Amino acid sequence: MELLFSPLFSGSGGNAVYVGCEESGILIDAGVSCARVVNELEKIGVSPTSLKALLITHEHSDHIAGAGILSRKFDLPIYATEGTWRGMEEKVGQIQPKNMRLVDPRIDFFVDGMNIMPFPIPHDAMEPCGYSISLGGIKASVATDLGCIRDGWMNAVEGSDILLLESNYDPDMLKAGKYPYSLKTRILGRKGHLSNDDAGAACVKLVGKNVKNIILGHLSKENNFPELAMETASLALREAGVEIGRDMTLSIARRDGFSGLYSLKDGFQELSKGVRGV
Ligand SMILES: [Zn+2]
Ligand SMILES: [Zn+2]
Repeated sequence: MELLFSPLFSGSGGNAVYVGCEESGILIDAGVSCARVVNELEKIGVSPTSLKALLITHEHSDHIAGAGILSRKFDLPIYATEGTWRGMEEKVGQIQPKNMRLVDPRIDFFVDGMNIMPFPIPHDAMEPCGYSISLGGIKASVATDLGCIRDGWMNAVEGSDILLLESNYDPDMLKAGKYPYSLKTRILGRKGHLSNDDAGAACVKLVGKNVKNIILGHLSKENNFPELAMETASLALREAGVEIGRDMTLSIARRDGFSGLYSLKDGFQELSKGVRGV
């Protein structure tokens, strides 16, 4: 068994993550244009016709911008909670009824042998959720757009072989930056986004929950730098006695293109660009 994982885009400008096995693939969010998603998929050797599901975390445009066109072009079923469907129905355009699938955030389901477990997340959207995908004892999770650290989502991603975790902003950059007061308050709130410091604290707890490989993502373009996010989390881990590289791995997802194709099977390895299923 092999599970492939590749963040294609990750940031406030748009999000999409590919998770796949030998036969088929799943996309989590499509927050950039259909053409850009297809372009990145081709770089990792994945045909968009092999996709079997598009899972949506919530209705904000950086998660759904390309969803409607992807569904219409590739006859792709979209999975979302009832609240998310309500929030995005008008934005994604006409979707064939057979491709409108309802997710109950407390009930897992299967797509081509891959077990999908949705879990609620604290975020200012109608009914947002993250997803864990498991295949043959391998588990990959996406937890971004999180207002705060909570036992619920932390427990849901427990034991993940790989996790895409939000590290959205540096608090000092946000406070000193040009965002209006209302937007700053929203981001800082308990239903906003995780700061670099929050992400660092979460990393420490998650290593204790047997999460082995963490990719920091959904970085703000205006209020963060990859180096800063990496350094903040690394420091928190080191202070907690975690040795990066030995006890776990830590990396950063790119905003504007795919960030490696991670192969999860007997142990963790990152494949080189464009190589699939070797
Ligand atoms: Zn959001
Ligand atoms: Zn977002």
